[in-house]
Amino acid sequence: MKRTTRFLLLPLLATALLAPSCRRSRPAPAAGANLLVITLDTTRSDRLGCYGDARADTPALDSLARAGVLFESCYAPAPLTLPAHCSLFTGRWPIAHGVRNNGRYALPARETTLAEALSAAGYDTAALIAAYVLKGKYGLDQGFAWYEDRLGAAEKPGDADAEIPADRVYAKFRDWLQRPRRRPFFLWVHLYDPHKPYAPPPEFLKAAGDDPYRGEVACADHAVGQMLADLRGRGLLERTLVVVAGDHGEAFGEHGERGHGIFCYEESVRVPLLFSGAGLPRRAARVPQRARLVDVLPTVLELLGVPVPGSCQGTSLAGMLAGREEKGQRPVLVESLYGRELNNWAPLTALISGRHKYISLPRAELYDLDSDPGERENLFRKHRAEARRLDDELAAFVAAQRGSGAAAKRSLDAGERRKLEALGYVSGFAAAGRGGLDPKEGIVFQERCAELVAALDRGETARVETEALRLAEETAGLKFPFAYLLLHHVYQRQRRWDKVEANLRRAIAVFAADPSQSAVFQGNLAELYLARGEGDAAEKVAAAILAADPRQPRVLELLGRAAEERGDWPRALDFYLRAQAEERNNYSLAKKVLRARLKLDDRRGALEALEPLLDAAEGRGDPDLLFTAAMLFVDSGDDARAEALLARLVAIEPTAPRWFDFSLLLARRGKTAQAIAGMEKALAAPAGQLDEERRRAALRALRAWKARPPR
Ligand SMILES: [Zn+2]
Repeated sequence: MKRTTRFLLLPLLATALLAPSCRRSRPAPAAGANLLVITLDTTRSDRLGCYGDARADTPALDSLARAGVLFESCYAPAPLTLPAHCSLFTGRWPIAHGVRNNGRYALPARETTLAEALSAAGYDTAALIAAYVLKGKYGLDQGFAWYEDRLGAAEKPGDADAEIPADRVYAKFRDWLQRPRRRPFFLWVHLYDPHKPYAPPPEFLKAAGDDPYRGEVACADHAVGQMLADLRGRGLLERTLVVVAGDHGEAFGEHGERGHGIFCYEESVRVPLLFSGAGLPRRAARVPQRARLVDVLPTVLELLGVPVPGSCQGTSLAGMLAGREEKGQRPVLVESLYGRELNNWAPLTALISGRHKYISLPRAELYDLDSDPGERENLFRKHRAEARRLDDELAAFVAAQRGSGAAAKRSLDAGERRKLEALGYVSGFAAAGRGGLDPKEGIVFQERCAELVAALDRGETARVETEALRLAEETAGLKFPFAYLLLHHVYQRQRRWDKVEANLRRAIAVFAADPSQSAVFQGNLAELYLARGEGDAAEKVAAAILAADPRQPRVLELLGRAAEERGDWPRALDFYLRAQAEERNNYSLAKKVLRARLKLDDRRGALEALEPLLDAAEGRGDPDLLFTAAMLFVDSGDDARAEALLARLVAIEPTAPRWFDFSLLLARRGKTAQAIAGMEKALAAPAGQLDEERRRAALRALRAWKARPPR
């Protein structure tokens, strides 16, 4: 008991030492409490029961809202997972922390994260991650003592689509909960289920009225309920501040987009935000005023009594949590560079100020959110003066937030505006066409492309080919990669490898000036060559990609496979290790490293490569790995560990050969009775499972063991 108290005091002590005395005259309401942050990926607030959706099946989140405080109008700073999470966990806008898109950016080490602040205050920190886009290499692992981002046995290197469902995240949560701890914890749990593809387990699909998206939300809600119940069961919940936030929403065609990433309409940027548990001054309360994800970090730190980093640009919501009204609405900066970086469209920046949302694009938009929350009527032409004022305000906001956020509001001259353009901000009043195609026009092509992908899945290959060729021709001057990607799928489906190659070569030439885009096509070309057995050609293309970016795990792994095909195991191992340096915690890659070490007869290295694999849930259920590991332990004289692994193996795969091996080891360990029982199981298995040689050996062994005096 004494010990617990001593450690619980740590954050309090840190607060007392570090917090400026002027900041706080009374103790923090949740000082020393645990913190659980759950982020619900791709979850629109209006698809939760507590936000008024009558069709939702979200009892856990609804009860959290009843027990705590719900923010009716919370905004994400971008409709993209990584930038939004970086803002949530730094309290800074994307333009300040610099993470503007998924995949191409990593949160810089100079940024101070919530995990770093809490870890410095004595917290035990852990994160459970459900999707590739948030893997540690993208920088959000800063400050976490444990960043669990393994995504299962099927995860390939560089596999942007890799994800794990809520039940797997919950299993990791249970493992985490069983760990001994003597300090308050900060746990971040990421649930990815509502993201495409929508494929909820049948029971959740049914509960959500056969709506697959709502079914995925219900599935995530179920995991939230399980985690809260477990915390309650251990008496931890009342000492835990729980925050639930969405990272961005999801569009269902309201403005032409299906999914998220391109536009910043309400459906894409309005997210749930709930506070519950320890330290909340009110319960069952709803806050109608606007909140932003950047406001979460300062709020949480204030409640926990931990100093807020000076770089934070958000403002604490603690006053609103306590029921104090704020004058006016907080302004919101929203942006997406996704269209620009992937499709060469114009960048999108928007400002929500007062009742208006102004979207800066070649065809700029202005909406009155009070009278037109569905953003149906673009008032840009009608209220040009208001639009002009907001355009200036947006430019000033961007300019102010790009640095420390301390710059005063002011109007900008032409030179300053040009500097902002380099950062991805283009005024809606700039000359038309500057900055690229308006995404409102681009989306039409992209949606046509999405329809064709669906048609391809239905087997309408010939029609899709004709349409895809037409699309490629229509968009030839616009440099859209998706027309080429679509043709790639068509020709692959038709197994017309010459056409696959010609299309890829053309795409590589078109995107020669855009290394990250052309790398995608070059990677596909290298895969094609390798599949055709043309290892030399594959290596040549792969080398060209690495010359532009030497850290591409997918390409490094491909080069490893090419070396393997030639039987050059030292070279294969070298590439696998280089890929592994970029892609920690990748199960399939770690298995390749293990195999290469075994091929090179490096037993010691193999044993080292084995440990993290066996530690992973995937490894514990992987028969081939369990067998390989058992043999390695037998080899190194550790029969006890080998026995444990083979015992697990026969439990997963109770076949005659598995019982045969297990029984031999049991006999060697002197466990004759168990060995006899095991070998009898092997012999009783259906004929054909055991080959003749082993069958005879089994009978011989049985006779010998039975003749031994019992032990
Ligand atoms: Zn997301």
